[in-house]
Amino acid sequence: MTDMQRESMEYDVVIVGGGPAGLSAAIRLKQLDADLQVVLLEKGSEVGAHILSGAVLDPCGLDALIPDWKEKGAPITVPVREDNFYMLGEAGQVRVPNWPMPKLMNNHGNYIVSMGNVCRWMAEQAEALGVEIFPGMACSELVYGENGEVRGVVAGEFGKNPDGSKGDGYEPGMELLGKYVFLGEGVRGSLSKEVIGKFNLSEGHEPQKFGLGMKEIWEIDPAKHREGTVTHTMGWPLGANAGGGSFIYHLENNQVYVGFVVHLNYKNPYLYPYMEFQRFKHHPMVAELLKGGKRVAYGARAISEGGYQSMPKMVAPGVALLGCSVGMVNVPRIKGNHNAMLSGKAAAEAAHAAIQAGRASDELTAYETEVREGAIGKDLKKVRNVKPLWSKYGLTASLTLGGFDMWTNELLGLSLFGTQKHGKSDAEATGKVFAHKPIDYPKPDGTLSFDRLTNVSFSFTNHEESQPAHLTLKNAEVPIAENLPNYDEPAQRYCPAGVYEVVREEGKEPRFVINFQNCVHCKTCDIKDPSQNIHWTVPQGGDGPNYPNM
Ligand SMILES: Cc1cc2nc3c(=O)[nH]c(=O)nc-3n(C[C@H](O)[C@H](O)[C@H](O)COP(=O)(O)OP(=O)(O)OC[C@H]3O[C@@H](n4cnc5c(N)ncnc54)[C@H](O)[C@@H]3O)c2cc1C
Repeated sequence: MTDMQRESMEYDVVIVGGGPAGLSAAIRLKQLDADLQVVLLEKGSEVGAHILSGAVLDPCGLDALIPDWKEKGAPITVPVREDNFYMLGEAGQVRVPNWPMPKLMNNHGNYIVSMGNVCRWMAEQAEALGVEIFPGMACSELVYGENGEVRGVVAGEFGKNPDGSKGDGYEPGMELLGKYVFLGEGVRGSLSKEVIGKFNLSEGHEPQKFGLGMKEIWEIDPAKHREGTVTHTMGWPLGANAGGGSFIYHLENNQVYVGFVVHLNYKNPYLYPYMEFQRFKHHPMVAELLKGGKRVAYGARAISEGGYQSMPKMVAPGVALLGCSVGMVNVPRIKGNHNAMLSGKAAAEAAHAAIQAGRASDELTAYETEVREGAIGKDLKKVRNVKPLWSKYGLTASLTLGGFDMWTNELLGLSLFGTQKHGKSDAEATGKVFAHKPIDYPKPDGTLSFDRLTNVSFSFTNHEESQPAHLTLKNAEVPIAENLPNYDEPAQRYCPAGVYEVVREEGKEPRFVINFQNCVHCKTCDIKDPSQNIHWTVPQGGDGPNYPNM
């Protein structure tokens, strides 16, 4: 208990995060035993408000959890009908045929979905089973027990002043305690980061790797819309500057998801991922598709890319990490939702068995074994070398070597490359200014491409201004004293929401400004800051983006 008096409530399982991982865990627990007390806390104003995926969904996770999802009216109605892959040059493109692609890259049987809507629907299923779901409740602290085990979380603290003191309407929040706490916070969760650090869970594993994914929803000319079409591209505009590529998914209602991922291990500190995305839309093939359409939503989120060799230990006394809090994305497939669901299911099954046996607050080792040796481990193991080969040898070599490796894994169950290492963290990969040249980006034209702040208004983000900034600096001097001379303070560019500015006024020293109100909760700053000086924490509950059907 902290110095202030907080009410506390006891549950069997406390789940942080209403993403596919957390919701699957909640549903499975109640399927196994309707009498279990299960609570799920979500920082978004509603479940789905902070969800951002591509998304092409491999339904294997949902099949295992709710086999009759179709009859139950899941918003999963657009099967993939066409799968295209292009290498882009500045003025043209080459279609890579589907036949040399390993089978696992095939999207046949998958669906184009809004994961926000899928999560909203999963929340309805969970509530119907009796799960208590509280949206608008950010979990800001972990509660530890007498022996150092995780006992619960603090959620719903509101009304702090910008300086951290208690305001007039201060609410201390509640302690929600459980026999087990599941952290389904997604990529780079703040509580998960604490648990990984405190229990040294990354020891013996490769560093986690990340990409920054940015996405717009467009309503396009119906004559150009081809429902069920999936297109991926690589090459221009990133070229040799960074790994990454794009996705274009035609969902229903003449809407298209247009997205762009930049791997965050890029070296050139002048690289501006958001502007790469905007530039991409000017490629003739993409511009032609979008011409006459309008962008109706924008958002961004980091994506985990370390895969098999980067998954930390995922259990510690009283706590289990789920889904992308561990990092379960199959990178070449750009898919993690199925594994997030399977991990939630596996954690629920392990916790149920433990509770039945009278256990509490210990390590759910059965969950970790299932993840590493079951369907998730098998899915990730086959593709474990694609990302490290790309990072080491670049795009073309990675397509051939990575493709070859996926084939041998698929056909023979082995890799000639063993298990490649990722090496440096994404923060450490950032090079210094003296070794790199600034990149000249064209100005957004306001039709196909947009400036950052205009686009942020299409994420419908809102943060109450009279609260402390949820982006904190370990050392306030570092951005100007170290990052500016060494890296031209890359936060100005890597943040896809324009949160960070270096303000220069005549006769004054440059100032580092944090516009936390713009933050879309992508966590890139926490990942990419070369000095690892920025710490992302949760703002008060309900704040952040309000994505429609991302
Ligand atoms: C651009 C992009 C494209 C992608 N495309 C695809 C795709 O096409 N197909 C696919 O399968 N996967 C895709 N992925 C990956 C997929 O999104 C993830 O694997 C998946 O979201 C992981 O689910 P999760 O439940 O672990 O986390 P998330 O989906 O991130 O959900 C976490 C939830 O927890 C909440 N939360 C976090 N911290 C707290 C806290 N402290 N208190 C309360 N609530 C909290 C968040 O608000 C959020 O609602 C993509 C990812 C990105 C970024």
